[in-house]
Amino acid sequence: MKATPVAKYLFADKVITDEMQQEIQFEKTGYSRNRKLLRIILGRGPRGFHGLKRALLKAQQNDLSKLLNKEDSEPSEYEKKLIMARSFLHNTVEKKQIDVESNKSFVQRQQSHEPRCRINLDNFTNLFLTASPYKEEIMIHIRHFTDSHGRIFPTKKGVTFPLPRWLKFECLLDEIEDYLENHRNQQQQMKWHIGGGVYVSLTPEFPTLDIRHFWKPDDSKEPIPTKKGVTLTRSKFDRLRSAVFELREVVPELNDAQLCMLDESHQNQLGVLICPECTPFGYEAQEEIESMDCDESDQQSQLTVNMDWN
Ligand SMILES: [Zn+2]
Repeated sequence: MKATPVAKYLFADKVITDEMQQEIQFEKTGYSRNRKLLRIILGRGPRGFHGLKRALLKAQQNDLSKLLNKEDSEPSEYEKKLIMARSFLHNTVEKKQIDVESNKSFVQRQQSHEPRCRINLDNFTNLFLTASPYKEEIMIHIRHFTDSHGRIFPTKKGVTFPLPRWLKFECLLDEIEDYLENHRNQQQQMKWHIGGGVYVSLTPEFPTLDIRHFWKPDDSKEPIPTKKGVTLTRSKFDRLRSAVFELREVVPELNDAQLCMLDESHQNQLGVLICPECTPFGYEAQEEIESMDCDESDQQSQLTVNMDWN
């Protein structure tokens, strides 16, 4: 461990006092600084333990932070919920999807409510993790902003997460990190549907994470990517990872967020098919039209119908 940067973040997060931080720095060797830091943390209770995990992440000492996770014998209610969310997600990739990033158009929208947080994920491109009240709910965003007359405004280039969707994203973070960490050895493309039109994808071609809204034109079998999304490099992803802890603190509502898959309405298939989070592209309607209008054994007539729709 490199104690000095870790101590700096521990102090910034008010886990240790300024005095304690100085005590650590006054130690002469790296070994004795580490010992001192750990002794202080042991005296700070659970807050000290979680603070240390967070400070290690912020100080880019992720491997050490992971070791602490393994020691965590009893997962919290929130962590159990993440594990539950993970059990509902599977890789949806069958064939390669190429993402086309094109011209920058953006909407300038006045925010009606002050954001709970706006955490910078990149110093150069105005990329932020935000949480803001919206129509009685809290919406989390990872979004590029733009400067105008000394104020910043959200652009279209970003992703919106109602809280249950955020849970489904957050439960993937460990796997995403592993994938990016071992990117050179990756062969399989990964793509998870986390709710609404939003997909999270990883590809062996680029060492980046893509989070994006998709939509499905009537004439397309597969949902296609839109410009509404973000592509995160490893360094931006690392900043996002450490920002997640701050987010949990300012959005305590995450603890009460419910996964729709566990809802009674989802006990039968119809409930899932009419849920806009689970079935955003009207799967049910599409199937009905196809089976009514086309003879399944007659590929030619199906082709004609599809061409008429075009
Ligand atoms: Zn649902």
